[in-house]
Amino acid sequence: MTALIEAVDVCKHYPVETGGFLRRTTTPLRAVDSVSLRVEAGETLGLVGESGCGKSTLGRLTIRLLSATSGTIRFAGQDIGALEGKALRAVRRSMQIVFQDPYGSLNPRMTVEDIVSEPLAIHGEGASAANRVADMLSLVGLPARARDRFPHEFSGGQRQRIGIARALILKPKFVVCDEPVSALDVSVQAQIVNLLQDLQGELGLTYLFIAHDLGVVKHISTRVAVMYLGKVVEVAAKDTLYAAPKHPYTRGLIASVPVTHPSQRARGRAERKRLDGDIPSALNPPSGCRFHTRCPLVQSICREREPPTTEPAPGHLVACHLAT
Ligand code: SF4
Repeated sequence: MTALIEAVDVCKHYPVETGGFLRRTTTPLRAVDSVSLRVEAGETLGLVGESGCGKSTLGRLTIRLLSATSGTIRFAGQDIGALEGKALRAVRRSMQIVFQDPYGSLNPRMTVEDIVSEPLAIHGEGASAANRVADMLSLVGLPARARDRFPHEFSGGQRQRIGIARALILKPKFVVCDEPVSALDVSVQAQIVNLLQDLQGELGLTYLFIAHDLGVVKHISTRVAVMYLGKVVEVAAKDTLYAAPKHPYTRGLIASVPVTHPSQRARGRAERKRLDGDIPSALNPPSGCRFHTRCPLVQSICREREPPTTEPAPGHLVACHLAT
């Protein structure tokens, strides 16, 4: 397969002032730390992990909404960190984002037409806006009369459709979907996920789909990557990852997905204990394996040495000393 996005050894560190008045020092907050990841053309790569693990930061790095502290991100083979001016603008139109919060990400004072056509104006294509907005509204399932209305006149699901229309109007190749359904009612989530899937087939899109809900990711993803405290700890095809996860953290996350059948509830409760405790601070991550403070299988080597990423089966990557 061909990688549309390729991240190599990417870091995003934020300098944070720590210590008291007399001992003030700057410490790097390691939001993303030495991550290498590929998103293949035409696939949906699910990116999961608890809040604060760095997945949204990584998503923004892949489309250069944020600049990496170090490492390389390639889009269709081009190092996007080295691009400037016209070349950067040309690549940017091929990479878009759908935000989590359809309430906060739409300007309440702009009409739907202005919101959806804004990217066209930015890229000098405002002249063709009227027809393209009409086509895009129809594509995302909104009526033509929506164009003259304001965001507050719509439900959460409809607002997310507006956000999707805005993201797709420039016909991008790659879209980061950053928790696009987590602010929506459960009854609406499936509609938006199905819409994203339909649009992917119709427009040939590639998605990085970020979520903390493994149930949603399971439905839409081709492969899934699991992040913990700034690191990618496991990547595998969806079916493999859910049926035979190799990293203890992935197993804990999967066990945390609520189960509805009574016979599975007791087992789910027992395994959920594996994720007891909070995610440590990225300002002072644990030595060795970052998951060692919460891992039920921890060994002494785990505290001393960071596990390398290995490939115990073709396409199945895992960073754990015990993975076989
Ligand atoms: Fe657990 Fe050790 Fe594997 Fe880390 S390396 S996940 S602490 S067994």
